[in-house]
Amino acid sequence: MRYDVAIIGAGIVGLSAAFHLSEENPDLKILVLDKFHTYAQGNTGKSAAGFRDVFSSDISYKLSSSSIKFYDHVQNALGIDLGMHYVGYLFLLDDEKNAGVLEKIGKKTSISEVDLDSLNDMGISIKVDEETKKVMGISDIKSAYIGKNCGIMEPDKIAAFYYKECLKRGVEFHFDTNVQKLNLEPKEPLNFPGEPFIWQDKYIKSVTTDKGDIEADTFVLATDVWTNFLTDRIGVDSHIRPKKRQLFKIKNEFIASVVSKSFIGTESFPFTVFPKGVYIRPAPSEKTFWAGVADDIGRDFSFSEDPEAEEQFYTYNVYQVLQAYMKQLSSSSISGMWAGYYSYNTIDGNPYIFRSLNMIIATGTSGSGIMKGDAIGRVVSSLYRGKDFTYLYGGHGIKTEDLGVHARHVDMEELVL
Ligand SMILES: Cc1cc2nc3c(=O)[nH]c(=O)nc-3n(C[C@H](O)[C@H](O)[C@H](O)COP(=O)(O)OP(=O)(O)OC[C@H]3O[C@@H](n4cnc5c(N)ncnc54)[C@H](O)[C@@H]3O)c2cc1C
Repeated sequence: MRYDVAIIGAGIVGLSAAFHLSEENPDLKILVLDKFHTYAQGNTGKSAAGFRDVFSSDISYKLSSSSIKFYDHVQNALGIDLGMHYVGYLFLLDDEKNAGVLEKIGKKTSISEVDLDSLNDMGISIKVDEETKKVMGISDIKSAYIGKNCGIMEPDKIAAFYYKECLKRGVEFHFDTNVQKLNLEPKEPLNFPGEPFIWQDKYIKSVTTDKGDIEADTFVLATDVWTNFLTDRIGVDSHIRPKKRQLFKIKNEFIASVVSKSFIGTESFPFTVFPKGVYIRPAPSEKTFWAGVADDIGRDFSFSEDPEAEEQFYTYNVYQVLQAYMKQLSSSSISGMWAGYYSYNTIDGNPYIFRSLNMIIATGTSGSGIMKGDAIGRVVSSLYRGKDFTYLYGGHGIKTEDLGVHARHVDMEELVL
């Protein structure tokens, strides 16, 4: 089996890459492979599915805002429901530093300061009691900002959109196909044992899967947190580490009564980020909140194929912060939980998209791969075509190599959630 391009991974990144590659190069013979039985079963299916263009770095802003515009176009101009709702992102801040970051971001996109008194109606208390302050080291809310070009969506619907469009364009999909290794070969083999030698030009000739070998001219690794398992064996560094992330579905009567309500000019209860990185994502159709946290130091980089959410992690970490600011959550109970991983770029928090041999590696989405998915697919397509500049949807563009390794040119992203 031989293809022009074989994409490993049918998450949002692989699907968007397949879509843009097929759109821009209609004659390409493209294959997408995934070990799961269908698309979007990896971290794409586990995400909190929030979207925002509130990022401190210019590059993350461009990747997210252009992708949001594209998804909006699909939903509103093409009439394909992606479950997008502009519920807003509410940032509750207990320090000056982040307020400065948000003020700066406000010059690029629609963010406004929220009157702290209006939080009362949402059940949010800006004052923390003295005992809690002492024990937990948390403080009163000093300012609040709402990002308007932000909200929630349904990644499985975005994935379905790309998948169907790819099928129409003749892209092939092989599911239930696990890529076991990348086969590094000399371009001009001498058929000596031990090839390829250091002095030989090398390339990835094929991949070995549990269903046989597949050859392609170019391989795209859209394998997210699994990338290292393939690249480590051939000495290519993907520059990411796995970071476990968990979500807890919580419910009670209070949540049911507020989750669909409009409070500060948004469609419903906003995606709300508390101090210490704890957040709640409204799920109006289920009448629940999904609670999570962008925990960092203390959480190891180990990886398990099937990670489980830890109820105790919720009880002793997430819940403690939530109930300090929202007393009505004290009676809530967990009605579901799950866990996945961020492919975490620990240096600057932005994706890595680069070429190595005849491979294009797109990973390091660091917790915002859905909301940047369309732009990432466009960068992959540009790299494939050798274009120095990538035009993103809605007018922005970036230098293609800015997200690479050697000529990387990005600011550190301060708002990884
Ligand atoms: C708890 C949690 C909350 C999140 N919240 C948000 C959010 O609110 N907003 C947001 O934008 N992002 C969020 N993210 C991040 C987002 O989910 C990821 O950035 C995004 O899904 C990455 O997409 P992907 O296509 O790179 O990876 P994936 O969806 O993981 O796809 C990779 C695919 O590669 C396949 N694969 C890997 N190795 C092999 C192999 N050897 N052979 C065959 N197939 C292989 C896997 O099966 C998988 O399907 C969250 C993530 C988690 C875990």
